[in-house]
Amino acid sequence: MTTSSKNTATIEYENLREANLPFFEEYERIFRSVLEGGWFILGKAVQEFERSFGSYIGSRHCIGVANGLDAITLSLKALALPAGSEVIVPSNTYIATILSVLQADLKPILVEPDIRTYNIDPNLIEAAITPKTRALIVVHLYGKPCEMDPIMAVADRHQLKVVEDCAQSHGATYKGRQTGTFGHCNAFSFYPTKNLGALGDGGAVTTDDDELALTVRRLRNYGSDKKYYNEIIGVNSRLDELQAAFLSVKLKKLDTINKHKRMLAGVYDERLKDDFIKPFRHPDCSDVFHIYNIRHPKRDQLREHLLKHGIKTDIHYPVPPHKQKAMAGILPPGEYPISTEIHATTLSLPISFYHRKEDLERVADVANAF
Ligand SMILES: *Cc1c(COP(=O)(O)O)cnc(C)c1O
Repeated sequence: MTTSSKNTATIEYENLREANLPFFEEYERIFRSVLEGGWFILGKAVQEFERSFGSYIGSRHCIGVANGLDAITLSLKALALPAGSEVIVPSNTYIATILSVLQADLKPILVEPDIRTYNIDPNLIEAAITPKTRALIVVHLYGKPCEMDPIMAVADRHQLKVVEDCAQSHGATYKGRQTGTFGHCNAFSFYPTKNLGALGDGGAVTTDDDELALTVRRLRNYGSDKKYYNEIIGVNSRLDELQAAFLSVKLKKLDTINKHKRMLAGVYDERLKDDFIKPFRHPDCSDVFHIYNIRHPKRDQLREHLLKHGIKTDIHYPVPPHKQKAMAGILPPGEYPISTEIHATTLSLPISFYHRKEDLERVADVANAF
């Protein structure tokens, strides 16, 4: 966050001060109230947020955890799959999805995305299933829900557990139903840039299963749901009171944030030339546009061109997981051309809560002149 929004010459990709400005007063009030309460870990603010976020999503249980990576990892651990079991994950995702599988002592198997939606291709899942496959993680990338009907059908046929990575999809729906309600145990991140972002790290698990909910509740707090009684081997991965309080403030505005981002996405859809591959609008999916990406064969030059005109962009992501140095010798060898193609051509355009229609019109016009 370098320049201020007063500099009309520059359009930032994101500016977290500006994006949070409408909430400053309420944040200050709630900060004061947590401070006066004198209780900072697993108190009323966490309980209140778990209740309201669970109810917003339409899930029977919601358990606050420390971050999105832990939300996925603890979901997998709660499922108690045999060590070394194979878990299918999309080849086109943020590295955290794959790291969670490794942290849970399981084996990630990558499946390619659909080039139109960038999400896991439901038609390719079955071919990746072996006798050791026990679970499937879907990622609603960029805020676009996966095609859950065909995905759940494959999972049911093969008795696979399903975990949804909803780190980018707060409030997105498939056939009118919220992401985070389809899988057995589902994970959210509240990293500051997400559509529902905290002022630090945070995450949550949603599930309808009483047993899984109790296990995640214990796992996040040293294996304990009653002070000094440890039922299982757990970790310290708690959502803290302050972040929960801030999140409760922002949750009330999540629909407004998503509505604004959809409006902005409409500006790009309409104004950008068809030389750019724009996000696919699946009739069953209501996208929350955590990210608005376009694809272009000369992506890097296009990015340079925009920057020269004072427009900052981002790339989600420049290096696919299977080409990351850290993954050498860990992921099964494979080519993943679709994922590679997306990583080489994708560009994320500004679409923050604080951006105005006019900002995006300028971005579109400058891009169109490329
Ligand atoms: C942000 C993100 C995560 C990780 O969330 P953290 O809170 O940063 O741990 C996981 N998966 C996806 C797809 C993400 O975008």
